Amino acid sequence: MIAHDGMYIGGEWRPAYGTDTFPVVNPADEQVIAHVPAGTAADVDAAVRAARAAFPGWAATAPADRAARIAALRDALAARKDEIAETVTAELGAPLALSRAVHASVPLLVADSYAELAASYPFEEKVGNSTVLAEPVGVVGAITPWNYPLHQIVAKVAPALAAGCTVVLKPAEYTPLTAQLFAEATQEAGLPAGVFNLVTGLGPVAGQALAEHPGVDLVSFTGSTAVGRRIGAVAGGAVKRVALELGGKSANVILPSADLARAVNVGIANVMSNSGQTCSAWTRMLVHTDRYEEAVALAATAVAKYVPGERIGPLVSAEQRQRVRGYIDKGVAEGARLVAGGPEAPLETGFYVAPTVFADVTPEMTIAQEEIFGPVVSIIRYEDEADALRIANGTVYGLAGAVWAADEAEAVAFARRMDTGQVDINGGRFNPLAPFGGYKQSGVGRELGAHGLSEYLQTKSLQF
Ligand code: NAD
Repeated sequence: MIAHDGMYIGGEWRPAYGTDTFPVVNPADEQVIAHVPAGTAADVDAAVRAARAAFPGWAATAPADRAARIAALRDALAARKDEIAETVTAELGAPLALSRAVHASVPLLVADSYAELAASYPFEEKVGNSTVLAEPVGVVGAITPWNYPLHQIVAKVAPALAAGCTVVLKPAEYTPLTAQLFAEATQEAGLPAGVFNLVTGLGPVAGQALAEHPGVDLVSFTGSTAVGRRIGAVAGGAVKRVALELGGKSANVILPSADLARAVNVGIANVMSNSGQTCSAWTRMLVHTDRYEEAVALAATAVAKYVPGERIGPLVSAEQRQRVRGYIDKGVAEGARLVAGGPEAPLETGFYVAPTVFADVTPEMTIAQEEIFGPVVSIIRYEDEADALRIANGTVYGLAGAVWAADEAEAVAFARRMDTGQVDINGGRFNPLAPFGGYKQSGVGRELGAHGLSEYLQTKSLQF
């Protein structure tokens, strides 16, 4: 794709107010592939005004018509599937097969689900002698990260549109080209001018201006817990709605009765996918002491298949690579046993980190507590179920997790006691309608499905 040198505001590409740009780098070969305008508060203000002006008309559009526009948006994205996959590969570094199968495909499922939900959602219900109306919150400021660049945009914009809200998007600075493609698709889908607007730029400048703008009614943020905390504070000060999808340190709990080989193989695949840059990755593998060494050997074998530059891509940036290597060094320094990978760069060019497995990790170690956001798995030993539960729940996070057991009911009983927002039972499949979001410091609110739609609605009751 050819990068736009402006912002998408009010249904057209307009020049930015400032002249600053920032580079987009291909993490696989470290080459600059484009320059994109660095938006300022003035660009954000213009975008919020356009979204505000478009809001009454879009909110008054019949849900079936909004559904038709979302379906058209889905079709526009589907028509550009190859271009999307290539763009994600160019700016995120994901292997093309992953970009096709996940980055360009999952957003279509999500857009589809909201085309259906927009048409079927009960925007009006009777409660005793009242009629309760579900009305759009207003103008949404959406701030997204880079790790699933299109999915995270669609997971916010599609439900916002379904609800009748208008949107200003500030995408991550590493992946603005995918966001520009999305803006083109909204234009092709015939969304009315101003319903969707895009401002590219740096987080502390454009992102902060969007979060602080008084014309924004809801800030929907996905990213790090550190930035989420600040955005929550800003939103609290202004008494405006906020949704936060933050970090994670999820547990893959393998109960003694489980099919160990399957649980370990799927667990390793879950972390290695997207080079470990997945907020819901099961980066802590919990194994009973009796089967511990067997699991460690299985994990070492499984991870060997992830050859850097082939099946596993680089990290998004040199900074992320530095951060992840720092965690690997820390794991070694704190006494964990390295059974695969390590801090050395596996390839000379590109921001690659070797797929890494640590054994003898104790629950208190830094690598068992902090989000690493790289291809690093920690295998932790437990003595009994109570111990496993204490370890699984023993971090500040609670985003996702997995439980494996011979008997589904046994796994479900354990999952019910986990302090986390989503649990896969014996390798459960992705469901675009299942609410996704965090307990504890993993966030506030939910995305996807009807629960995700309700984040963009506020209720009004009429009494008769
Ligand atoms: P980040 O918090 O640095 O950036 C996320 C977004 O916020 C970017 O668009 C960035 O430009 C913007 N931003 C940065 N500073 C800002 C500020 N002061 N004000 C407003 N906006 C600002 O996170 P990242 O490094 O891009 O992403 C990695 C993190 O995101 C990880 O911690 C990961 O777990 C988390 N994540 C969570 C989910 C989830 O659904 N829970 C999904 C993906 C990623």
